[in-house]
Amino acid sequence: MRHLIIRNGRLVDLASRSAPFRDILVGDGAILEVGPPGLAAPEGAELFDAAGLLMHAGLVNGHTHGVGTLTRGSRDRFDLALLLANAPAQTSRQSAEIKYLNTYLGALEMLMKGCTTAFDLTFGVPFASTEDLIAMGQAYRDAGMRAVMAPMIADTPFYHAIPGLYDSLPDDLKPLVGAAAETDAVLGAMRAALEAWPHDRDFVRLGVAPTIPLHCSEALFSGAVRLARAFGTVVQSHVGEAKFQAVAAIERYGMSMVAHLDRLGVLGPDFSVAHGVWLDADDMRRLADAGASVSHNPGSNMRLGSGIADVRGLLAAGVNLAIGTDGSASSDNQNMYEAMRAGFQVAAVRHPDMERWLTGPEILRAATEGGARETGFTGIGAIEPGKRADIVFLALDHPNWMPVNDPTVQIVLVEDGTAVRHVMVDGRLVVRDGRHLGSDMGALARRAEAAKAELAALQGPALAAAAKLEPFASRFCLGLAARPYPVERFATCSCCTDGGFSAEAV
Ligand SMILES: [Zn+2]
Repeated sequence: MRHLIIRNGRLVDLASRSAPFRDILVGDGAILEVGPPGLAAPEGAELFDAAGLLMHAGLVNGHTHGVGTLTRGSRDRFDLALLLANAPAQTSRQSAEIKYLNTYLGALEMLMKGCTTAFDLTFGVPFASTEDLIAMGQAYRDAGMRAVMAPMIADTPFYHAIPGLYDSLPDDLKPLVGAAAETDAVLGAMRAALEAWPHDRDFVRLGVAPTIPLHCSEALFSGAVRLARAFGTVVQSHVGEAKFQAVAAIERYGMSMVAHLDRLGVLGPDFSVAHGVWLDADDMRRLADAGASVSHNPGSNMRLGSGIADVRGLLAAGVNLAIGTDGSASSDNQNMYEAMRAGFQVAAVRHPDMERWLTGPEILRAATEGGARETGFTGIGAIEPGKRADIVFLALDHPNWMPVNDPTVQIVLVEDGTAVRHVMVDGRLVVRDGRHLGSDMGALARRAEAAKAELAALQGPALAAAAKLEPFASRFCLGLAARPYPVERFATCSCCTDGGFSAEAV
């Protein structure tokens, strides 16, 4: 066994909101013992000096999309309707090499900002072949990060997913809408990828993501979940993200999106909801009863104008909570510290009663233990015996930490990733002195510029066609969002809503 003894560091303790000095003994990537300074270590154990460093468990990004890293910061004002209208054009025509690069650059950013595991909703079949998926899995392996990679699958294009949207388009634009995919072909491709998956499942596993219930026939959604269960992996779907979707679900199913999924029998401990903004009390209870998780993505929810999730309601109902950044196409960066901070702030914006806000330890727990449970990686999320040694080391001689106060609050509200000194995954350093080991940043920057030019040429016509449809999608979805819904998740009062966007669109 290869032993590693980490000495002289301070370890964040959620329960006592303190950071006592602790030594950590690691054997073959597993945490064997955590104890006070002077912890006994086997002869020959390698010494890792953590003097002047604060240790916390590697953060878990509960929801992201490696597919969008190259588009970071490319859009100004942009909402979910526009994102979905553009998504097929934006994810198509990418070579396997560009898919790898997208995924690798996202992983790199996460690692350098203290995140060691991600739930990545990646290119869905048929946009990625089994070979492409394996290559993207290799990107996480090469970067040295853990991930669930769940291809986003669907059989219903966005314009058919929202009742009435297709019919609202001018006749001359209707041919621009993509065709529906064949349900059996999509499920067959997903099964083939699951059967072929060659990567070590302790590091990179394949999940399944029926991307949005409205975009999936009942046969596809149920079939996807059956496949996930047959292969013992996890499922994630975007549920209750934007109001127009919540309203469309009532119109389509005669019930909420979560009630519809419950009726299909797909909710369970292996199921997670991304976003969960437009959930009512009954939805939350159904998710809690099933042991399901919600990835709260506050940065994305604000950036796309989706609304403010009732996270206190989710926790009170007993739903397992994770924190996510969302993809760089919808929230621009992959900074989990920023996502945690936004999570604290939006909870406070929702209600004047502090009892309904989230605490520092609650958010940090969601971003570590909650994410571990959500991703199905049971051996991560905490620094304690039996867990894997995924450890972030923050520099206490950085302004963020002068002085050390309540470290749980300080990680959530002060740390921004700039004090990340080292990052360890499975007992091995992947980031040392703020630099990712094994990456040539200059070469990557040149490669990213080249990929951007390549994609502009390849995707130009498809993006131009999508742009023609955009205004119609935007106006139609805004019209749906102006309709009444049992819960309010915008930061507007009803009088502003009535006067502000009682759109004449629908
Ligand atoms: Zn998403």
